[in-house]
Amino acid sequence: MKAVVTGGAGFIGSHLVEELISRGVEVHVLDNLISGHLYNIHPLAIIHTEDICSKNAQQIIIEEKPDLVFHLAAQADVARSISEPEYDADVNISGTVNILEACRKAGVKKVIFSSTSGVYGNLQKDLISEQDLSVPISYYGLSKLTAESYIRLFHQLHGLSYTILRYGNVYGPRQTAKGEGGVVAVFLERIKKGLPLRIHGDGEQTRDFIYVKDIVQANLSAIEGGNEETIQVSTSQKTSINDLLQMFKEIHSSEIDIIYTQARTGDIKHSCLDNQKAYHLLQWKPQVEIFHGLTETYKFAMKNSPL
Ligand code: NAD
Repeated sequence: MKAVVTGGAGFIGSHLVEELISRGVEVHVLDNLISGHLYNIHPLAIIHTEDICSKNAQQIIIEEKPDLVFHLAAQADVARSISEPEYDADVNISGTVNILEACRKAGVKKVIFSSTSGVYGNLQKDLISEQDLSVPISYYGLSKLTAESYIRLFHQLHGLSYTILRYGNVYGPRQTAKGEGGVVAVFLERIKKGLPLRIHGDGEQTRDFIYVKDIVQANLSAIEGGNEETIQVSTSQKTSINDLLQMFKEIHSSEIDIIYTQARTGDIKHSCLDNQKAYHLLQWKPQVEIFHGLTETYKFAMKNSPL
């Protein structure tokens, strides 16, 4: 089997590449290294340093004719999407269309797309399901939602098979303090430097934190399952920022200074995704308990620089 992983030099993509290679898949990484790094990439992967918006990127997919394309390359920084909406749309919308066109021309069997809980915006609901209304509150959420719509229409018009996976807040080794949902990485960077942790608001805001290896397993399950479906990949567990701090205190086993600052306007208070659909359609459920996942991430962060 042959696969292209766009964004394979990044945080999630590099873990996916490793797992695919360990299963004997020939892996081509398509990445312009804007936030990813060569040192993240498994030595057996074939690297193409290209922008997903380029003609070269299309050409590589057309020539390689992979069975599968895992499309992870993205502008994944919410703040940057607000300050540079055109750039965000170029990468996340036009870049995706470019990759989909290549997939169509190359006869790719399936595209597996990394999407986000950011598509729901500030939805006030205890447990979000895939049918809930998507009203993004950032250009990033909007560009991802638009990319999803293109994927569905490519299927309708050209029969290109897909699974769209919407992730909760992913954390794990190799995550950097930038990008989406990087609170774990931000905290670890500061713990490592001995700096106080800054909490916006009372720390009671909650997120659905999911370990990167569980995300990889969901992508692998989507090779066979979940055709033409949009599926949330999450733990369905609410963890508050204060809970996170408690766990870090235990793992770090020495004092961590904490500063509470004003809540940021526009910050989502609670975000938790129902994972029942993933369970039924992908036979997938998360395996990594948060304390264990945080411990692994902490150990990695203390050994490696940058995180
Ligand atoms: P990341 O920034 O670590 O990885 C993105 C990769 O894409 C990087 O290697 C980067 O160099 C590459 N890239 C960016 N623009 C490119 C372009 N124009 N051409 C080629 N390559 C380009 O981010 P990540 O956290 O690993 O995210 C991977 C995917 O998962 C993204 O699509 C993101 O939207 C999605 N996602 C992430 C999270 C999270 O919590 N990290 C949550 C939900 C969804």
